[in-house]
Amino acid sequence: MPRANRRRRDEVPLALGRLRGGGERRETHRGRSWFVRPLSGATSERAYLCPGCQHDIAPLTAHVVVWPADGMGGVDDRRHWHTRCWGRY
Ligand SMILES: [Zn+2]
Repeated sequence: MPRANRRRRDEVPLALGRLRGGGERRETHRGRSWFVRPLSGATSERAYLCPGCQHDIAPLTAHVVVWPADGMGGVDDRRHWHTRCWGRY
């Protein structure tokens, strides 16, 4: 596990609190902090290109939307990922 992940351990209780609120959770991947919001897919009407596998996420498919949480980027940097692909990222 990269050092950055261990350093972020102390953020877990905060992340759980946010999760209970029904919003996004915060995760650290590859040394960067990200907000991750699970989507049911029930309202998605278009396919998104998953950056993890370069395949489409079909409409009505549950997936996650991810964006940087470290101030380096914002809403415009949101990306849609297959839940499984994000888990492997
Ligand atoms: Zn994918």
